[in-house]
Amino acid sequence: MEMSTGTVYLVGAGPGDPDLITVKGLELLRRAGVVVYDRLIPRELLLQCRRTAELIHMGKKPGRPSIAQEQINRILIDRALQGKLVVRLKGGDPFVFGRGGEEQQACQKAGVHCIVVPGVSSALAAPASVGIPVTYRQKSRHFVVVTGHSNGEGDPLDYSALASIDTIVILMGRSKLVEFCESLMIAGKDPATPAACVEWATTQKQKLTTGSLRSIAALVEQDKLQPPVVTIVGEVAALAATSDSFARECWQLADPAHRGDHPWLS
Ligand code: SAH
Repeated sequence: MEMSTGTVYLVGAGPGDPDLITVKGLELLRRAGVVVYDRLIPRELLLQCRRTAELIHMGKKPGRPSIAQEQINRILIDRALQGKLVVRLKGGDPFVFGRGGEEQQACQKAGVHCIVVPGVSSALAAPASVGIPVTYRQKSRHFVVVTGHSNGEGDPLDYSALASIDTIVILMGRSKLVEFCESLMIAGKDPATPAACVEWATTQKQKLTTGSLRSIAALVEQDKLQPPVVTIVGEVAALAATSDSFARECWQLADPAHRGDHPWLS
């Protein structure tokens, strides 16, 4: 694999389980001179970085004043222009609600080479981690991934259009779940449609709440689910496994402490 210095790699860290980063992403992390990382990335992955690597935390917290996107862009560009191999490590996939597109554009504008390494998005991994297939013959022919928190930016969501999609996957939707579900029901989605919420999917902290479009918002309140949460609305949500055994199957091949156990890795 050829990796060049003076380049910004936008790398998807995967949804939470450190083993769910791609092989390419992991290799880049191991070679990076600078790693600029987000709040939701699996922290264990940072153990993979070189001791000499510069690690910069650029986390944004919901509801808190966020670090200006320009400041992040400036750091990426500055370090790349110093000839460093820069990894911008983002939760899930860098182009799913991660402002990765803006970072890519900023690099291109500054004449800095930018390469995207896709990641496993929580939009797919969260349903998968509880056994919910986002498509299923006859039950779900299409799915949509939508933000549940649009901050009043842009045009309001078209809930009638959303209601016509078989499976709706909602990201960043925990705080506005009541309103979101109500809007879907007003737009004609059957209140009895199965729904599920997954907190901290694919990690040891994973929690699952299941219900219907009508009941799910109250149930997550009762179960005290906190962000990050992915909500799935659709017939397929009824397939959610009640056991959380998926979450516990964490091999941690990515953890260097375990690497000695594997002769082919030592
Ligand atoms: N780029 C990321 C999404 C960033 S937006 C991706 O592809 O996954 C942040 C939102 O992602 C959170 O509000 C939450 O809805 C979701 N999310 C990220 N990681 C999650 C996890 N481990 N469990 C549940 N939701 C998660």
